[in-house]
Amino acid sequence: MILDGSALSQKKKLNYVKRVKYLTEKLGRAPSLHVVLVGEDPASQVYVGHKEKLCIATAVTSKLHKLDSKTTKEELKSLILKLNNDSNVDGLLVQLPLPESLKGFDPLMYIDPRKDVDGLSPMNMGLMIKGEAFAEPCTPKGIIELLREHSIELEGLKACVIGRSETVGWPMAWMLTRENATVTVCHSKTKNLKDSLKSFDLVVAAAGRPEFVSAADLKEGAIVVDVGIHRGKDAKLVGDFNPEGSEEKNLSYSPVPGGVGPMTVSTLLENLFSLIESKLDCK
Ligand code: NAP
Repeated sequence: MILDGSALSQKKKLNYVKRVKYLTEKLGRAPSLHVVLVGEDPASQVYVGHKEKLCIATAVTSKLHKLDSKTTKEELKSLILKLNNDSNVDGLLVQLPLPESLKGFDPLMYIDPRKDVDGLSPMNMGLMIKGEAFAEPCTPKGIIELLREHSIELEGLKACVIGRSETVGWPMAWMLTRENATVTVCHSKTKNLKDSLKSFDLVVAAAGRPEFVSAADLKEGAIVVDVGIHRGKDAKLVGDFNPEGSEEKNLSYSPVPGGVGPMTVSTLLENLFSLIESKLDCK
């Protein structure tokens, strides 16, 4: 089975138009998403482009703050604080990674958790454990939804998350645990990782290594969620999983492109709507 994130996100888009209309009436203006992009990283520019495109398609105001790679920590911090205090800004994100020159500066420490559409600020990460986050990290949240849409029962599954990043691996492991899967987290220091993969029902491949996992590494009927995105040979996009041989092993997997990527972007928009709804509830 193909875990088709493109189809699901297209289906969800229909509902967004209605939701945006409702929120626009309540706010007296369109919902707004502000994105800060520092430097010229090509992949970041592509991701930001996808977010802008979905905003335009759903009548959300999207504002890009493009800063050059010479931007200082103080300048970036001051822009974040200014946007935090602007009542016309509903959602705010700083596209990661930041250029080398900003090494050691963590923008997530400054974003208002009530505007943190990525759900990655320390406060939201902490509140997630309590089930009370204003927003939860988009990629893992979108993955849980993709699995649900395909009627995959997570309770009792033996799951392996490859990668322990703050944005993907860790929150993914937490969300799968919350769904009553039994989770093993692997990373670059894990020994004999490939040999152990056959014992898992579900593998989330988020190592950021092109075609790191192959069908031969997995057990019959396993489910693979492929988070990685890489520009492979002939400029073709590939993931962390090479799907060759999946049919013979009856594997279910999310394709690259068209799997996790579109779910991440649609979850971002849903986080924006939830942030606005909780703001309106508080009024
Ligand atoms: P990251 O911060 O670089 O983290 C990679 C993780 O993988 C680290 O925990 C690292 O272990 C682990 N790892 C690296 N090599 C490994 C190996 N050989 N064996 C086992 N584990 C290994 O990356 P990320 O931000 O989590 O993103 C991962 C991938 O997903 C990237 O390709 C990224 O572009 C993609 N991504 C896609 C989406 C989407 O919407 N589709 C969203 C976010 C990210 P250590 O901790 O030991 O270093």
